[in-house]
Amino acid sequence: MAELFYDDDADLSIIAGKKVAVIGYGSQGHAHALNLRDSGVDVTVGLRAGSASRAKAEEQGLAVAEVADAVRAADVVVILAPDQVQRHLYADDIAPNLKEGATLVFGHGFNIRFGYITPAKNIDVVMVAPKGPGHLVRREYLDGRGVPVIVAVEQDASGSAWELALSYAKAIGGLRAAGIKTTFTEETETDLFGEQAVLCGGASQLVQYGFETLTEAGYQPEVAYFEVLHELKLIVDLMWEGGIAKQRWSVSDTAEYGDYVSGPRVITPDVKENMKAVLADIQNGAFAKRFIEDQDAGGTEFQELRAKGENHPIEATGRELRKLFAWTTRDGDNTADYTEG
Ligand code: NDP
Ligand code: MG
Ligand code: MG
Repeated sequence: MAELFYDDDADLSIIAGKKVAVIGYGSQGHAHALNLRDSGVDVTVGLRAGSASRAKAEEQGLAVAEVADAVRAADVVVILAPDQVQRHLYADDIAPNLKEGATLVFGHGFNIRFGYITPAKNIDVVMVAPKGPGHLVRREYLDGRGVPVIVAVEQDASGSAWELALSYAKAIGGLRAAGIKTTFTEETETDLFGEQAVLCGGASQLVQYGFETLTEAGYQPEVAYFEVLHELKLIVDLMWEGGIAKQRWSVSDTAEYGDYVSGPRVITPDVKENMKAVLADIQNGAFAKRFIEDQDAGGTEFQELRAKGENHPIEATGRELRKLFAWTTRDGDNTADYTEG
């Protein structure tokens, strides 16, 4: 059984006694910085010169400095810039300016696990990774709740890295839900697998194939959209509340029977074999290498794939349809809040 930690297991005064620099003010960065500040922690946001994020952080009353200056002043440096820029940022602006005895905090283990960042031996390296999008991390905190966090220690030079990591997890609200102890390796490999095989890759491809199958058979795209995309949220909400069992309990007997007989026809055992191949490429570093090499060459493959996804007919159908829903904004974007890390 995994080891779980809650608010009572952590001492907020540890992180409240430190100067914290949060590098990056995007999805995770804004949530960590604001939650820390509201928990009484001394926070500075570190951004590059001319950063588009500066105004947003200042609007919230946060102190902002350039990365190197923020790092020089900090006891704890939280790296929340995108994974693909972290190693350049670390080499150029963080490592040369890190205080003796400082702690590095990551929100995902990618750069440590795949060796893109190798911190000096005399600093503590920990991870506090919320298992949810940044905007939810902030919203839950404001509502008095929290998003569960994964906590890990990679390097413990001080002997007190774990206590600091737990204190940090409490300050961002994560221990109101739960903290789960793990390692950088386990977090990185499972996080990449989950988003690739199931949450992002698997779900997106499943929805697109479902939409294509119905529209190619002559059904109206709007009706297909409802059946294979819109209702997915309702089903996932039930799974989230009570597992797959609750979803099956709530749907009609017709739907439940169809789930049993047709699910395994669509998602055949060779899909599991494919998942194992995806996991192998994550474990052996092939995925990380492909991603970073493409990013370093300007992200050509990434941009091509993004454009291809945006041009899928389901997107145009959805944009028009969502404008007609009572609760949405005019541009057909239900909320701008959801991104999977
Ligand atoms: P974002 O893409 O939202 O980060 C954008 C921020 O990083 C902006 O403030 C941007 O500033 C800054 N930034 C970009 N490039 C640079 C640079 N070269 N130097 C300095 N700052 C830069 O990142 P996420 O929040 O998605 O991810 C951050 C970390 O959290 C990652 O390790 C990710 O894996 C992890 N994570 C993310 C989750 C999520 O919800 N998205 C969930 C769990 C973990 P500017 O305005 O200057 O561009
Ligand atoms: Mg139906
Ligand atoms: Mg991720």
